[in-house]
Amino acid sequence: MSIFNLFRKTNLECPRCLGKGLVDWEDIRRLNKQLRWVPAPCAYCNGIGKVPKEQLLKVAVDCTYLTIDLPDSEIEKIKEGHEEAIEKGKQRELFVDNIIRYAEHHLSQNMDAESIANLYLSTEDEKAPFSVEKEHLIKYIQLVIDSKV
Ligand SMILES: [Zn+2]
Repeated sequence: MSIFNLFRKTNLECPRCLGKGLVDWEDIRRLNKQLRWVPAPCAYCNGIGKVPKEQLLKVAVDCTYLTIDLPDSEIEKIKEGHEEAIEKGKQRELFVDNIIRYAEHHLSQNMDAESIANLYLSTEDEKAPFSVEKEHLIKYIQLVIDSKV
């Protein structure tokens, strides 16, 4: 071993994708992110399969918000443990959780995806920090419904 190896950052196998560089359905189930994620390149390790050891202390492996579709700058902020970015992620997570609960609740009243979406949008707070287009909402609620059968 070269002496320089002693000074190298310790890289660990990525605990999110288990070193594959891709998050698949199995990872999604293992991390309990059904209805939150779909299979995609891994944002936790940037598709490399390895992560610096320090990163595990800064950002949780199952941080829902940290996905590959965020802008690079936002991904960097989250990995650095940037408070504002982490907070934004939590808000976003709550927003999605709310929609899921809302859909589940109305589903028990035999409503279909479109009626639930319409009702949701009609009661949506205009000052809410996030919003969703009707078409996307209907598709998403349909996913929630399908996951229940
Ligand atoms: Zn990974």
